[in-house]
Amino acid sequence: MVLIAALYATPSLFDRFVLPVALPYLPGADVPPRGVEAGDAPLGTPPPAPASTAFSLMESPVEEQEWVAYDPCRPVHYVVRPDSAPVGSEGLVQEAVAAVSAATGLQFIDDGATTEAPSEDRDLYQPELYGKTWVPVLITWTSEAEIPRLAGDIAGLGGSDYAQTPGQPLVYVGGQVQLDAPDAVESLRYPDGRAYLRATIMHELAHVVGLDHVDDPGQLMYEQNVGRVSFGEGDLAGLALLGSGPCAPGL
Ligand SMILES: [Zn+2]
Repeated sequence: MVLIAALYATPSLFDRFVLPVALPYLPGADVPPRGVEAGDAPLGTPPPAPASTAFSLMESPVEEQEWVAYDPCRPVHYVVRPDSAPVGSEGLVQEAVAAVSAATGLQFIDDGATTEAPSEDRDLYQPELYGKTWVPVLITWTSEAEIPRLAGDIAGLGGSDYAQTPGQPLVYVGGQVQLDAPDAVESLRYPDGRAYLRATIMHELAHVVGLDHVDDPGQLMYEQNVGRVSFGEGDLAGLALLGSGPCAPGL
């Protein structure tokens, strides 16, 4: 077993509260028109959850709502900034997204490459780059030179922002995964490097959809990579719950 010195993420990195959404939509508004791609029913359903409680959900910023999730009634778009992607990492992002999609029932759409840089203060509406819709999940191969919080053994960071139409549930929008490219290059030197790097991306994406760390080395959401390359039962139970959040057609 290859042990890669890699801490995962600080889940609270992107906790920035967006409230309230301006209504009604006006040209030039700083939020997208309401209900873009919103369906009447969830686009997918999570698989039956294992009977495990070995998971923790990200804390909700409001008392009235216990936990936050992506709107399952619309697709979750994602883009990748390919700069600095390590040789040998081809396909890993898509495979990690597929694993999270399977575990949550959330439908992800690959919108391809972007030039957008990672940021802790990301604008959630960038119509010039992405059209009149909430920004997609942004996955970047970066480094501590660009993202100082990746210093040391931190292999990646992940999280989402919130948005809300007044009176309706809070939902996640605009997630980010920031991957430490030099650390990833190091990981890929090992025989099982691809599996470990894929697991790192899965861990960060699980933060994006709302899973927090859990103090159980048998789960991928343990704070440190101890050799797991797949989701554990607790991870899967949490992800299934996170795929069953409320729809937010008014957003
Ligand atoms: Zn983490």
